[in-house]
Amino acid sequence: MSDRVFFLSADIEITNKCHNRCAICPRDRMTRTSGYMEEPTFSGLLSLFSGRGMLITFSGLGDPLLHPKCLDYVRRLRKTENSVGIVIHPSSLNDEDHLRDLVRSSPSQITVSFPSLKREIFENLCPGSDFKEDLEKTLYLINLTRNKTGIRISGIRTRLNPYEKKDFLEYWKGKGVDVWFKPCHGRGGHLRDSRIYQRKGEGLCSGSCSLMRFHTFITWQGDVLACCHDLTGETKMGNIADMQATAILEAKNRAVDRRPPFVLCNLCDEPLRNVKLPPRPAAADKKSRRIFFRNIAGQVTTDPVTIN
Ligand code: SF4
Repeated sequence: MSDRVFFLSADIEITNKCHNRCAICPRDRMTRTSGYMEEPTFSGLLSLFSGRGMLITFSGLGDPLLHPKCLDYVRRLRKTENSVGIVIHPSSLNDEDHLRDLVRSSPSQITVSFPSLKREIFENLCPGSDFKEDLEKTLYLINLTRNKTGIRISGIRTRLNPYEKKDFLEYWKGKGVDVWFKPCHGRGGHLRDSRIYQRKGEGLCSGSCSLMRFHTFITWQGDVLACCHDLTGETKMGNIADMQATAILEAKNRAVDRRPPFVLCNLCDEPLRNVKLPPRPAAADKKSRRIFFRNIAGQVTTDPVTIN
């Protein structure tokens, strides 16, 4: 398999601020400065990614919907011949107008974090969120997106719901939406063991990270980091203000040549780090990308965890 990195997908953290208090998010360990992506940085991204046929997703450690220009950024990125995704939490959707504005901004894909369909577990994982309200908003959003926008529900397997997968998939498939149910992971060792999560099988099988090979992570300040699990900025490889795409790929290739790429990787149990990649990157069209990502998602195990 090629050791070289692909320029196929990017996560953009347009802000690392968030008002939610999800139990599976170790944001209390974040030492990176917090803020919102400003216009010059966003314009730099537009020129960096224009015409590349990538999947660009607004996500990371913050809540993209908190950024006052989030939907404007989605609209503008959509005009650059890329697919644009956004990861949201239903608690961040204010009212019906907000939901409609989100759909009107025409992202290619909305991923809704909806960790569990069991009320008690949902409210345990998302303290302060109201399960019933969030479910209503999500169902309303599904109706709004029908035949317009891709929508995916993202569930999470924790120590509280090790056997929920089957019911979870059946419910959401019954609503006609794409759904996945992924194991909770510790974000580069930042999430501590608890009644919700227990670290297991950390480290890299090959010494190198598959996720980093096809995926690029950029902060609100334009810093290129190994991935969103870097909460301190210790893996910074440069800033898009002074890097062209080729320079980003070269910096990542240098990291790929190290075993491990970064100290952070030693404690990482991110499921995508060890997936097998095809020898060549997917072509820059939607269909090839979809096959590539389906193949990768299919490799992520969701077998139940053992409860000690
Ligand atoms: S191994 Fe984990 S921490 Fe290291 S680059 Fe990959 S996803 Fe990030």
